[in-house]
Amino acid sequence: MKSEPVRFAADLGLASCHTCGKLSPVKSGHCPRCGSGLHLRKPDSLARTLAFLLGSIAFYIPAMSLPVMNVSGLGGGEQSTILSGVVTFWEMGSYPVAIIIFTASVLIPILKIAALAWLCLAATGRFSGTHKKMALTYHITELVGRWSMVDVFVVAILACLVRLGNLMTITPGPAALSFAAVVILTMLSAMSFDPRLLWDQRRATPTP
Ligand SMILES: [Zn+2]
Repeated sequence: MKSEPVRFAADLGLASCHTCGKLSPVKSGHCPRCGSGLHLRKPDSLARTLAFLLGSIAFYIPAMSLPVMNVSGLGGGEQSTILSGVVTFWEMGSYPVAIIIFTASVLIPILKIAALAWLCLAATGRFSGTHKKMALTYHITELVGRWSMVDVFVVAILACLVRLGNLMTITPGPAALSFAAVVILTMLSAMSFDPRLLWDQRRATPTP
């Protein structure tokens, strides 16, 4: 363990500020530049990441199974889930809309949840991957996190499409709230994760 030639900043008692990134001695307690609290690692990073992740998984089930919107028009009311909405758009021949909604509402949240679960397993040492794989997964999580805004975009598209038929009224169903919770919880989960835990884990159990 001590034979590693690489010296970690943590070994030298240096911590990088979570807010501005300045490297300073952890003993000083606060960042000299911006005054944020200094920690070698984000406190309780793994527990927080897991808690937000489990919450997002719990909300994902009602987000998919409950009606996301109630459409009422002259022909009576209709409730549709996200998946039945995708199927409806596909059958109507609106393939791009169906694909965008499916990607943003079904695929991206699943990818985010899977990547975060994988990172948590890797950080606890229950899963051993190569440095490259771990870095790649973390980068994907970061990239996917940026695409969270696509969800908002989809809601805007849906609202526009529904407005086109001005005889219809639309009210959000219970799944809309659950879906928002999934998006927020996965973002919080990704923000709580400290990628340095991965390198700590690698150092504790060196593999060729
Ligand atoms: Zn700072």
